[in-house]
Amino acid sequence: MLEGLLATGRPFLNAVRWTAPPGYSEHITGRAVDFVPSDADFKDVPAYQWLKERAADFCFTESYPLGNAGGFEWEPWHWRYEECDE
Ligand SMILES: [Zn+2]
Repeated sequence: MLEGLLATGRPFLNAVRWTAPPGYSEHITGRAVDFVPSDADFKDVPAYQWLKERAADFCFTESYPLGNAGGFEWEPWHWRYEECDE
């Protein structure tokens, strides 16, 4: 995906806000999941609201919430597991 964005002429530092370079995705940890639809429409499905309210009970967190400190694009469909005390 990154190669495709760069091929359109998008600057690297802009492109990596949208897709991780090879080897840097949370998915390689085996702890990240993408729900469907895996796009901005996920914010409008009931499952997203359920996750916002209950995912922490199961040690899941939204990796790139709206306005995240890292400056990454909002990915409401992308969540990760982190060990917690519940
Ligand atoms: Zn993902």
